[in-house]
Amino acid sequence: MTNEEFWQAVLGEIELSLSKANFTTWFKNTSVFKIEGEDLVINVPNIFAKEWLERKYRKIILESARKFYPKVNKVLCLIGEREIDLSPSIDSAVKMKNGQKKRFLRPLPGQSAGENGFSNLNFRYRFENFIVGSNNELAFAACKSASENPGKSYNPLFVYGGVGLGKTHLLQSTGNAMLEKFPHLKIRYVSMERFANELLDALQNSRAREFKNDYVKLDVLIIDDVQFLAKKEKTQEEFFHVFETLYQLGKQVILSSDRPPKSIPTLEDRLRSRFEGGMMADIIKPDIETRLAIARKKLAEKRFRLDDDIVEYLVENIYHNVRELEGALNKVIATFQLKNVNPSLDEVKKMTNDLISTNREKALEPKCIIDAVADFFEIDKKEITSRSRKRKLVKPRQIAIYLMRQHTKLSFPEIGEAVGGRDHSTVIYAHDRIEQDLLDNNLLRDHLKFIQEKFVGY
Ligand code: ADP
Ligand code: MG
Repeated sequence: MTNEEFWQAVLGEIELSLSKANFTTWFKNTSVFKIEGEDLVINVPNIFAKEWLERKYRKIILESARKFYPKVNKVLCLIGEREIDLSPSIDSAVKMKNGQKKRFLRPLPGQSAGENGFSNLNFRYRFENFIVGSNNELAFAACKSASENPGKSYNPLFVYGGVGLGKTHLLQSTGNAMLEKFPHLKIRYVSMERFANELLDALQNSRAREFKNDYVKLDVLIIDDVQFLAKKEKTQEEFFHVFETLYQLGKQVILSSDRPPKSIPTLEDRLRSRFEGGMMADIIKPDIETRLAIARKKLAEKRFRLDDDIVEYLVENIYHNVRELEGALNKVIATFQLKNVNPSLDEVKKMTNDLISTNREKALEPKCIIDAVADFFEIDKKEITSRSRKRKLVKPRQIAIYLMRQHTKLSFPEIGEAVGGRDHSTVIYAHDRIEQDLLDNNLLRDHLKFIQEKFVGY
């Protein structure tokens, strides 16, 4: 077995136990440098990958490698044996544009780089007040690294995850940290919605060229909620040119989305493959320890004390996203801060009743599930409950059935009723079908995750 064949086999093993995003991110650009005695030496593209592989994936690499080469006992990473970082750095881009260097670095009048108005950054969002847990550590590490080496670590960086899980916080923190470290950089944070509206405005006033010029002069572009691009062809087209120019110059682009690129409907292939070609990092729901740490941090920031049993009650029962947890805390604080008394657990229970996750789930109507499914597949919700057996309806219907079984207390016959009076055996078949598909269909799993975000907790 050559080193190459050996590594392919090892990667095959590793791939089985990691999410696709993690696997692609960390293992895509690796190869074996040598195997000698007990040592396995891997080539990795940069220091960031080295730290991550040695720290987080050492065990899994060892275990997988031993299946083919039992003697291996040590994993070492070597940086840059094969230079993979294709994007020129910001420094070199600046140098390349020799004569323009000064203009490039000096903020334009009225646009001091650190000025809120131009960068759109909100200083409230900082890495220091972001709690890192297993749900977001990959995204956090990637953003941190991007902030320390703009354009040099992973480009583009694509952060995705459901609502209220901290994407905006992370992106903004990244911009703020960059500005502190590199005050001369021209950084801009903008939501895709705002970008699209401003573009539209520019197009209508024949200022499209100026508009784009403003963007391609940036050193760092941070775009929040790119899922807004879905089905907006013209915006995609223009955005692609901005993106491509910055990317070719080695400028850092950071994007966020509520779903992975492949799940953004009608996203052009060239944009999708660009997004997927960089670093993708997902954020999922925080576990209870992380929620506890977040709640404590927020209380400390607001200088408000709550008894432990109350904080525990809240983090145990509000688990869908951080925004809701924060909402509950704010509600309690606002009510009791003025009165200057400590609330009792009972009072808090009463006042946050409508925010408790299980209460929301219990109240979940099949209609909400149908709406979310129809919305995702871009079909009319009436079609899901119709008699039609068109192919494009069958899968969404099966998914709606499956989700109803997972998220409501309805029996199979009741579910049948909810999807247009279908027989309970049809319902059971549909349910089992999805359950079966989920075993080996990652895309389906992503789709379900995304659809669930739409209705769970709202
Ligand atoms: P998203 O953009 O993913 O919808 P946000 O970044 O707006 O979510 O986060 C919602 C709220 O929760 C914000 O107030 C943010 O500060 C807070 N938040 C989310 N995740 C964390 C975290 N890990 N640590 C501290 N605060 C967090
Ligand atoms: Mg956001």
